[in-house]
Amino acid sequence: MFKLHQLNTAKSKRYQELQFLTIESINEYDSEKAHAHDAIILNIKNALEAEESINLIRQQTSVSDYLKPIFISKESLNRQLRTRSYDGFTDAVNLQAIAQTTRKINERISKVYRTKTINDYKQQQLFKVLAFTFTRNIHLDPYTSRYSKLGYSYPFLDALIEEEHSQEILEIVELGLREELFSGKINDKIHLCTSCSSSYINIRETCPKCHSIDITEKDLIHHFRCAHIAPMEDFQKEDNLTCPKCDHKLRHIGIDYDKPSVMYNCNTCHHEFQEPEMKSYCIDCHKEDEIHHLVEKKIYEFSLTPKGDEVVKYGLEKLINSNEEIPKDVLSCSFFKLMLQQEIERATNHDITSFHLKMNINKNQVPQMTESTEVGFKKEIISIIKGYLLSSDLITAVSAYEYQILLTNTDIHKANELTGLITNNLNKLITDNLSEQNETIWSELKPIQQGLKMA
Ligand SMILES: [Zn+2]
Ligand SMILES: [Zn+2]
Ligand SMILES: [Zn+2]
Repeated sequence: MFKLHQLNTAKSKRYQELQFLTIESINEYDSEKAHAHDAIILNIKNALEAEESINLIRQQTSVSDYLKPIFISKESLNRQLRTRSYDGFTDAVNLQAIAQTTRKINERISKVYRTKTINDYKQQQLFKVLAFTFTRNIHLDPYTSRYSKLGYSYPFLDALIEEEHSQEILEIVELGLREELFSGKINDKIHLCTSCSSSYINIRETCPKCHSIDITEKDLIHHFRCAHIAPMEDFQKEDNLTCPKCDHKLRHIGIDYDKPSVMYNCNTCHHEFQEPEMKSYCIDCHKEDEIHHLVEKKIYEFSLTPKGDEVVKYGLEKLINSNEEIPKDVLSCSFFKLMLQQEIERATNHDITSFHLKMNINKNQVPQMTESTEVGFKKEIISIIKGYLLSSDLITAVSAYEYQILLTNTDIHKANELTGLITNNLNKLITDNLSEQNETIWSELKPIQQGLKMA
């Protein structure tokens, strides 16, 4: 009785401090429910459906959703899955082994930058791959796959990219290489169709004159004694080889004669030639091409570089755009000071209320940053703050950890509300990246009046 009851409700399984969610069909996946669990166990008997479920999870947008550890229930699948984007098998009874893996992965997931939506599709996919590689602590090794148009695929990318778009896999990994987020070790070379990027290409020898594939290959024979060279059929006389020029019998290859090369005969136009034209024929789109037109691509195995590691922890936009300057409408400190002084004069002489808002970020609460990640961090903070400002408001960044804002023509009520909003949102951005949730922002709002100093 007890067992039955457990079976009916055992969608969530507890093991020590961990919660496992068991899913028995793709329809049962619910990102909100999955969110509250540490890992997912797929107990789906149909391999295709299991695969679709994995793809669905890996294609989610939130870090903790798409990186979720996934295990396959051992009994559920009797044939190999086409994807390699899961984290292992489990017998669903003994959870000790997958608990260990789950903890390791989740520990690393907590370090991944909670990225906002990256507008650039390729950059977004790249970030996801980097994050997967980082959280699994693996090399991204290519594997041969008949289901990928490239003939190769990669774990995680196989779930992210639809099979018919598999050339995107190359574009994403090439972007990672170019930005030095991956280092690659060459593993193979493939040749792709110029029209559809498929690697399923048939190579054939054709007649250089009429391009027919109906050609016959013939051995040439070179008779040492008289130096006569002719196709083998000219030497064939009953069961022996006899030279048509000097009438001697040919006995031993290497002693009497050799076969220096081959000749081709076109059965369509009867052209005779020695060098056939090599042509490719694409199995997928039927395009015929000369083989030197095919696009050669290198297949690499990848590992994260220290820069790639940093991108996972602090965000991709920051590094890729880190050479860009802070937006121009952010004032320099000295100019801000000048404007502040002017506003003090204005507020004293006229009946207007403006406010000076100073925001400090507790440096000790933020992961240590390099100079380039600091620039990106600053940009992100500024863009959040600016989202709440009017075009007449002014802002300066004293450092990556201190921002000063001049709120013009507002009242204390609105200024207070704005301060609260900005503080909350900055707090959210920063604490999203932290395991502990502490107060990280300190703000000070002062009315603009005589005697106010910037410091
Ligand atoms: Zn021909
Ligand atoms: Zn001869
Ligand atoms: Zn093609």
